[in-house]
Amino acid sequence: MLKVLIPKEMGAETRVAGSPDTVRALAKRQLLCVVEKGAGTASGFSDEQYSAAGAELAFPQDSAVWAEANLLLTVGPLQMEQPKLSAGALVVGQLAPHGNENLLQLLQGQKLSAISLELLPRISRAQSMDVLSSQANIAGYKAVLLAAAALDRYMPMLMTAAGTVQPAKVLVIGAGVAGLQAIATARRLGAVVKVSDVRPAAREQVESLGARFIEPPVQGVPGEQGGYAKEATAAFLEAQRQGLAEQLTDIDMVICTAQVPGRPAPLLLTKEITELLRPGAVVVDLAVAQGGNCELSQVGENINHKGVLVIGADRLPATVPHHASSLYARNVAALLEVVISKTGELNLDPEDPLLDPCLVSLAGALRRTDLVPNWKQEEGVKP
Ligand code: NAD
Repeated sequence: MLKVLIPKEMGAETRVAGSPDTVRALAKRQLLCVVEKGAGTASGFSDEQYSAAGAELAFPQDSAVWAEANLLLTVGPLQMEQPKLSAGALVVGQLAPHGNENLLQLLQGQKLSAISLELLPRISRAQSMDVLSSQANIAGYKAVLLAAAALDRYMPMLMTAAGTVQPAKVLVIGAGVAGLQAIATARRLGAVVKVSDVRPAAREQVESLGARFIEPPVQGVPGEQGGYAKEATAAFLEAQRQGLAEQLTDIDMVICTAQVPGRPAPLLLTKEITELLRPGAVVVDLAVAQGGNCELSQVGENINHKGVLVIGADRLPATVPHHASSLYARNVAALLEVVISKTGELNLDPEDPLLDPCLVSLAGALRRTDLVPNWKQEEGVKP
C-alpha cells in the first residue's frame, strides 16, 4: 500500500495539501495517508478529523516517516532542511520551479519524481486540478476586501439624509482568474470598475461582469499562448503605461494582477504614475512576488507613498486557509486520480499531455531544465 505523507507546512504557511475529505477519498484508492500532527490546525482541520477519515498521525519532520513515504503532498516548495525522501518518491505541490536551482538539485540528488502544479496545462482535463485558479480566485477576492478595509471612503453609492455618496472607482489590471474575481467582488460591493488586459478574449468577460474594458495600445499587442498572455515588448508597455496614466486621476483603488508565466510581471505603475493617484487611494499588488505591476510594491509590505497605500500582497490565499486548503486538497486529489491506478499503483506516464509539462523530474531525471535560468537577475526588472 502506497504511503502518502501530508506534512505540516514550513514557516508561515497556513494551508495544508490534504483535508479530511480528500484523505477519505484517497483511502478508497488504496492509499494510506500519514498526516503530520497539527498540519491542518490553521485550516480548521483537527488531528482527530484526519484520524476519523482514516489517516495515521505522525510527529512533524520525523526522518523515518519521510523515508517511508511514497508520495509527499505539499503546498509550498521542498526545502533543503526537510527530512530526506527515498529514491523514487513522488512530490506533488506548488514547487516554484522557475529559476529554483536548489529544488532541481534536491530532486536530482534524492532521485525524486516531482509534479509542479503551477505547470499543469490549461486543458479541460486538468480543470479540476488547477491550483492556480483555485488560489488566484481567493487572492482576487481578498485583495478587494483588503483595499476596501484600508480605503478612506465607502465602496457603494449611498443616498442618505446627509447627502449622496458616490461609488468608489476601481481599476483592475489583468483580467485572468484573480482579476475577474476582483472585478466581481468590487462590483458586488457597489464600485465602478475599469479593467486593463492585453488579451482580446478578456473584453467579453470583463463586460459580462459589468465593468469597462480599457483598450490596450494598438501597436504590438503581445498575443497569447495556451490562454496566457505573452510577454509584451518595452515599447508596448510604455504605450500601455501612458494610457493607464490617463485613467488614474479619479481612481480610488487599483488591484494589480497582470502576469506572464515564468517571466517578470509587467511593470505598469511606475513611481511617477502611482503618484497620479490621490492621497488616500489604495494599490494592492498581487504580482509583487514576480516583480510587481507597481514599482513601489514590496513583498509582504504596506508602503505609504505620499498618502497612497501600496500593499504588496503575495500570500493572500493563505489568509483564507480553510477554503484555500479545502480547494487545494481537492485539486491535488483530482491529480492523484490520474497518476494512481484504482488498485493503488503509481503510474507516471511522461507522454500523457497532462503530465508532460508539469512532471519536472522522473526519479531524479530532470525533464524541465529550461526552468533554471534565473530571470530575476535580468536587466530592467525591479530589484
Ligand atoms: P495570469 O495569472 O498568467 O495573468 C493574469 C492576467 O494578466 C491575464 O489575463 C493576462 O492576460 C494579464 N496580463 C498579462 N500582461 C498584461 C499587461 N501588460 N497588461 C494587462 N494585463 C496583462 O493568468 P491566469 O489568471 O492564470 O489566466 C490566464 C487565462 O487562462 C485566463 O483567460 C483564464 O480564464 C484562463 N484559464 C483557463 C483555464 C482552463 O482552460 N482550464 C483555467 C484557468 C484559467
